[in-house]
Amino acid sequence: MKPSRAELIAALSELKERELVEAIYEVLKARNVDRQFPGGEFEYDRWCLAQATFGKFGKVDAEAHIELAALPVPGCEPSNVTSLHEQGRCTRCGSAVTSSSKRAVCPVCSTEVECT
Ligand SMILES: [Zn+2]
Repeated sequence: MKPSRAELIAALSELKERELVEAIYEVLKARNVDRQFPGGEFEYDRWCLAQATFGKFGKVDAEAHIELAALPVPGCEPSNVTSLHEQGRCTRCGSAVTSSSKRAVCPVCSTEVECT
């Protein structure tokens, strides 16, 4: 039986950050689109989960930034980490990412990102 929207929200709300990211990306990957055009060019649509962080007192200032939640590199999943506390920047596409792991997969271009 299909769970209700309220049941889905309740279940997702109980997840730790890392579990939520894993679940959301599992759902979103089916919505990603790769297009090839007659001239041989490609275009990719990638759905991503982002975390926006504001500066002091909740005001948008120079400290405000947006990071894309990134999954750990397979095999590099820390077993006891549940939060997104590592940050890095993709060397290929420039996306800022946050992850539960020091080695993450860029959700935009799939490049491995070193995080600190
Ligand atoms: Zn990237």
